Amino acid sequence: MKLTILGSGGFRRTPRPGCHCPVCHEMRQSGTQRLGSSLFLHGGRILFDAPEEIASELENARIDRIDHLFFTHWHPDHTLGARILEIMNTQWSEKLEWRMVAVHKTMVHMPGPVYDEMMSRFGPFFEFWDVLGISGTGRMDGPVQIGNVTIDAVVFETMHRTMTHSTAYIITSGEKKIVYAPCDITPFPRDERFMDCDLMILQTGWCGPEMAERARNGPHYEISMDEILNIAREYRPGRIILTHLGDEAKLLSNDMREIEAKYSEFNLTFAHDGMSVDV
Ligand SMILES: [Zn+2]
Ligand SMILES: [Zn+2]
Repeated sequence: MKLTILGSGGFRRTPRPGCHCPVCHEMRQSGTQRLGSSLFLHGGRILFDAPEEIASELENARIDRIDHLFFTHWHPDHTLGARILEIMNTQWSEKLEWRMVAVHKTMVHMPGPVYDEMMSRFGPFFEFWDVLGISGTGRMDGPVQIGNVTIDAVVFETMHRTMTHSTAYIITSGEKKIVYAPCDITPFPRDERFMDCDLMILQTGWCGPEMAERARNGPHYEISMDEILNIAREYRPGRIILTHLGDEAKLLSNDMREIEAKYSEFNLTFAHDGMSVDV
């Protein structure tokens, strides 16, 4: 499976306008950025989450079409770019129609509790897009089969103060298995289907000395590095990529290289925008 981490940013893209913290400063100096968290699976043209910057992310990766869109949860940093459906799936003035005409339909999937939370907030938008014929929105009632890729959802209630459900997606193709759980993953669900996956892409969470101290003091609602290592010991993924990385973690690039070296036995690396991975 070939995938691209389109956006590796946290709930606030970095560098953040108006922020002069060391992380934002370093990124300005190097000309890099971390846009909203999202993943693209090339086989099946499958997108996971649509942050505000998704149009730029797709353009940067030269992706032409989205056939399937899966949402992990309703939070704005994963959903407010859903209008990408209009941007990519319509024609407007091309044939002098001067109204939006569907040229492609993206199937939109999410597990039941996420669907309910999404529709209570964004229902009219998805109804509009479904009526236009540019999306087909539905709740997952089991694994979704797309070509030779199977996508299953582990949905769980998070410790986030909004009492949100979030999703860990299990993506399998032949012998290969990926777990994608980028945000609000505490308490991390226990599920034997995670066992021995080739790759786990997880939220960075509360990483770095200051955040780790806060996580130890609890109660908290973001995952800590200790918990990530416990997940690694329990499920033995072949590789871990940490994503959803904001400036609140205060990790400069050298800090990240040090963490990668420290936990090399877990084959753990930090994501960056446009990172492509073959599994
Ligand atoms: Zn900053
Ligand atoms: Zn998030």
